Amino acid sequence: MTGLKFPIYMDHHATTPVDPRVLEEMLPYFTKNFGNASSLDHTFGHDASVSVENAREKIAQTINARHDEIIFTSGATESDNLALIGTMEKYKDKGDHLITCQTEHKAVLDTARHLEGLGKKITYLPVNEFGEIDLDLLKKSITEKTVLISIMAANNEIGTIAEIEKIGQMAHDAGVLFHTDAAQAVGHIPIDVEKMNIDLMSFSAHKVYGPKGIGALYIRSRNPRVKPEPIIFGGGQERGIRSGTLNVPGIVGFGKALEITRNEMEKENERFKKWTKEMFEIFAKADGKLNGHHTKRLPHNLNVYFKGVESKAIINSVSSKVAISAGSACTTQVVEPSHVLLALGFDEERAHSSIRIGLGRFNTKEEIDFVSNAIYSSLIQLAKIKV
Ligand SMILES: *Cc1c(COP(=O)(O)O)cnc(C)c1O
Repeated sequence: MTGLKFPIYMDHHATTPVDPRVLEEMLPYFTKNFGNASSLDHTFGHDASVSVENAREKIAQTINARHDEIIFTSGATESDNLALIGTMEKYKDKGDHLITCQTEHKAVLDTARHLEGLGKKITYLPVNEFGEIDLDLLKKSITEKTVLISIMAANNEIGTIAEIEKIGQMAHDAGVLFHTDAAQAVGHIPIDVEKMNIDLMSFSAHKVYGPKGIGALYIRSRNPRVKPEPIIFGGGQERGIRSGTLNVPGIVGFGKALEITRNEMEKENERFKKWTKEMFEIFAKADGKLNGHHTKRLPHNLNVYFKGVESKAIINSVSSKVAISAGSACTTQVVEPSHVLLALGFDEERAHSSIRIGLGRFNTKEEIDFVSNAIYSSLIQLAKIKV
């Protein structure tokens, strides 16, 4: 008998389980150390504040930032909202133009739509069949009125990694700010805000084995100094940029989660690269085609198209044993083809016949083999039914 436990989770782009080492670090902050980090009149508040600042330092170090450049939020969605709305508002005298791209997460796209409703001008750059923007086109799209460029670091559906460093350089050469949604990148691939010319960066704990409901926005403090307008008002926490009582257990967990990734990311990625390659070799036998870039991709991502087979059918046939996703989990309530796959130039058939697999820290080789074979058998079955 095997030691497999079902269902096997392979949807780590949607969320990740909390690492037990992270949970252990968090637990005292729910009961014993429950202080409000802003209540500095007693040791409860003081201790909470010290723990928050320790976590902030760990997070800053992970991305080569300074501790005062990290603002805690409820997650990458809020960080994206703050970055886009707050920056466009703050620098409205400079201009009203924002450049982003068609394959962004809805947290960026829907915020851009909201800004459009407020009269801002938005450019949604197209992408090539691998999910990359054209840097020449980006350069040509920059005008006197451009305030901000927002391009994601790594795509949550197809795993394509953007040329962040070059995009940041281009933005800076033109005197434009650069924001990146790095929810899928921080803790998964090396990110250095200095080297990559990043001015604002959104990221989230629950994508890196931390808890849900806590995220951060990196905001550059020098060369140039950036300060978005707040979108949430109140007690003036986080230098007035994001009011609200700090989520101390969440912040402590976030710090621990990123500290772990610093030590373990490289080894983990070697494993993921090997496993995604092995899985794809099996899928290729069933005529699977890779969606996204072949080399510039997240090591734990696999997005595969099976011509003529509905992704829902594959997922349903393995669902009692395997948890994988049809495109983006954030939009699976609605049966809409993935906006990312359509933006790559694929038709609706391809968008409806692709599956996304996201490997994670606790997956084992045994699970990889089981899932590859389960999906392969399901494809053979479904092909038979069709014939
Ligand atoms: C998950 C995700 C988000 C949303 O993050 P939350 O912390 O869940 O709000 C935004 N952008 C990308 C690319 C993501 O993968």
